[in-house]
Amino acid sequence: MSATIIDGKEVAARVRAEVAQAVAELGERTGRTPGLATILVGDDPASEVYVRNKRKACSEAGIGDHHQHLPADATQEDVAAVIAEANANPEVSGILLQLPVPKGLNGKELTALISADKDVDGLTHVSAGRLVQGAPGLRPCTPLGVMELLDRHDVALEGAEAVVVGRSDLVGKPVAFLLLERNATVTMCHSRTRDLPAVCARADVLIAAVGRAEMIGADYVKPGATVIDVGINRTENGLKGDVEFDAVAERAGLITPVPGGVGPMTIAMLLRNTVTAAELAS
Ligand code: NDP
Repeated sequence: MSATIIDGKEVAARVRAEVAQAVAELGERTGRTPGLATILVGDDPASEVYVRNKRKACSEAGIGDHHQHLPADATQEDVAAVIAEANANPEVSGILLQLPVPKGLNGKELTALISADKDVDGLTHVSAGRLVQGAPGLRPCTPLGVMELLDRHDVALEGAEAVVVGRSDLVGKPVAFLLLERNATVTMCHSRTRDLPAVCARADVLIAAVGRAEMIGADYVKPGATVIDVGINRTENGLKGDVEFDAVAERAGLITPVPGGVGPMTIAMLLRNTVTAAELAS
């Protein structure tokens, strides 16, 4: 293997320690504790695990826990009322509505009700607009985690060819705008892109956010490129990324593994966003 492996667990642990310190400093300076309201509707086991992990990470960093659990038969109005309450609560710096919400509820409409200044997932229309226009605001956590990994490994972005495979609102689009903000030359690819391997092979920085196990092979990768694999795919052979790790690691300069790459960064950046929101509010 020639590539250096980017250890997301290690970087995430450092970010979390920095967040804990920032929480303590904010407390000393303002007497206030940042708080996160996680809102879980229904009993989806995977969502319960995600929310539990987020709450645990928050409390480890000293962030206040304002969790709300609503039953699966909660109405759109019930959830909207909980969001309105959290928007108005000065103890709550950040609000996270765990998606997907149960059938019958409209997750997009509910997300849009979150105050942009508390939108620690960065998924509201206002947050997306702020990102596109380069205005200050909260950015989505996984894309922020990707940028943090690049920065902590001194990956040069200015003028670099960056190719993002995937154009979701959650990952592909925001990561492309964050790269553009840093003066990379960004190409966004998707399911209709012609000759994807050739487009990807131009990249100095290749971000895979597709959701197809091991789709990105060595022929997609320029020798020495930095390859960030956002994909999480459950297969018969365990958890796999979008990148064919062993083959690509022979060719890339830097590469993230799955698991242990981008995954651990998402919660770390959620914690950081919560502190950022609290700092902005104070
Ligand atoms: P989506 O399904 O919303 O988007 C997938 C994107 O990939 C779409 O834009 C789609 O194109 C594109 N795509 C699909 N097939 C191809 C193909 N054959 N060639 C080129 N492009 C293709 O997924 P998400 O963005 O939400 O997630 C992507 C992956 O990242 C998933 O594996 C997900 O589990 C993972 N993930 C990981 C996180 C983490 O914390 N590490 C957090 C969030 C997601 P089109 O728009 O044309 O349909």
